[in-house]
Amino acid sequence: MTTPLLRRLRIAFSTLIFICFFLIFVDFRSLIPSKYTNILLFLQFIPSAIRFYSLQSMAAGGFLAVLALTVLTGRTYCSFLCPLGIGMDLNSRIGGRIKKKFRRYGLKKPFTILRYLLLAATLIVTMVWGIYMLTLLDPYSIFGRFMTYFAKPAVIEINNFLAGVLGRFDIYYLSDIPFKGFPLIVYAVPSLFFLLIGGLSLTKGRLFCNMICPVGTLLGLLSKISILRIKFDDSACTRCGRCAVRCKSSCIDFLNHNIDVTRCVGCFNCVTTCQDKAISYGIVSLKKKEHVTDENKRKLIATSVLFLLGISRIAKGQDKPAPKPKKDSTVKEERKFPVCPPGAGSIADFNKDCTACSLCISACPNGVLEPAYKQYGITGMMQPVMNYHKSFCTYNCTICTEICPTYALHPLVLDAKKLTQLGKVTFIKDNCIVKTEKTACGACSEACPTKAVYMIPYEGNLLIPEVNVDICIGCGHCEYACPTIPYKAIFVDGNPVHLAAKKPVNQESEIKTPVEFPF
Ligand code: SF4
Ligand code: SF4
Repeated sequence: MTTPLLRRLRIAFSTLIFICFFLIFVDFRSLIPSKYTNILLFLQFIPSAIRFYSLQSMAAGGFLAVLALTVLTGRTYCSFLCPLGIGMDLNSRIGGRIKKKFRRYGLKKPFTILRYLLLAATLIVTMVWGIYMLTLLDPYSIFGRFMTYFAKPAVIEINNFLAGVLGRFDIYYLSDIPFKGFPLIVYAVPSLFFLLIGGLSLTKGRLFCNMICPVGTLLGLLSKISILRIKFDDSACTRCGRCAVRCKSSCIDFLNHNIDVTRCVGCFNCVTTCQDKAISYGIVSLKKKEHVTDENKRKLIATSVLFLLGISRIAKGQDKPAPKPKKDSTVKEERKFPVCPPGAGSIADFNKDCTACSLCISACPNGVLEPAYKQYGITGMMQPVMNYHKSFCTYNCTICTEICPTYALHPLVLDAKKLTQLGKVTFIKDNCIVKTEKTACGACSEACPTKAVYMIPYEGNLLIPEVNVDICIGCGHCEYACPTIPYKAIFVDGNPVHLAAKKPVNQESEIKTPVEFPF
């Protein structure tokens, strides 16, 4: 294959990858089956490495394939498979259209100390304290947050606008999608990264990948022994410098015919730019191959061992509307623990493995998951947490457990999920409108899929809820359905360790919920 063709192949392939990732994150109708999502996620480096450690199975060994690919082809992962890197390339292209000078890169200093310090810090923090720095810096997770926090809401807004316009012409192909947003504070970190990465890629190409990204630095080290790489033909080169100007990694020293392979992302722009055919991509002969010093080798081995050690540490609703309360509820819900998603096993395990990529938040068809801000503490910021004021966990759904790329959410078969107790229901009688307003309700019992909430006689003809905690699965359906504000009369307190609920018995057969609400 000729090298210009390689560039075209790179553009076509990376565009396809980007579109696929975009679609899986903005798929607000849940049209894409999780098996296709998993194929795409297999090769995402950090999620795959974390999953590999949890599963201890080659079925999760995508990151090993990436390492092998890097030894063979250099850092092509960054140009072909990393959705954040591809997004940056698109942004650089836009930058070049806006201002010609943004398209002119030229050789820049490599920020070697900063890069290796950041990589070492990421590894040490991961080994000693946990996954926090990986959560911040993993390129796939950063991309996931951009899509979930910014792109998906924008797509939903466009959908709703078009649905409104078409509705006026009696065309109902599109329907309005409700989107409730997240607490403002969780936008802080993604917004900061959005500005940083957006600004850098718009004006300076791949500077983020070559200065901050720990995956880029690690794969860059491995590229030093890659078999295929960009090379110069000294006799053909006229030292015009065009290649260096087009190199968005700013890694070509055309005067000395030297390419910093640790920064080259294999985009092949230089190859197509060179009119003298003095630059190409291929096997580097041993005598030409960059000398790998003992120090570099040591650095590579030490970093790889540290990295592997690091990885080993991390090793709707009701049919009938509920009555509207006339006055505010007064007793605050005292939640001791947040409710973490099904498949998490325990809050501690979950916090250890989740890189806050937000794919589960995006994929949840019910929108019950949102990024945490204080629920798990500062270190669990942006990891997904259930918000039962916003929605509830659907009884027959296991989507988040199927698509989590890091295995922070373990796959659950539906029968197991239906018996996994995420938290326990608590009833606050003093908030319940049956007591405070002498009004018939029963919305919580109506909503509960296991009938862990059922109605018992209260005063006169009124019935009031009673709970059977043993069969409660903590899905939050009751909490969501409860009409009291600002505090709910029934809520779910999270289980720090998920438990097995007892099999539900049909409480309805013993105590009848009124067939019709009297409102
Ligand atoms: S739990 Fe959700 S946010 Fe965390 S890694 Fe899995 S899919 Fe990503
Ligand atoms: S299992 Fe529950 S939290 Fe997970 S995607 Fe389904 S509804 Fe959402």
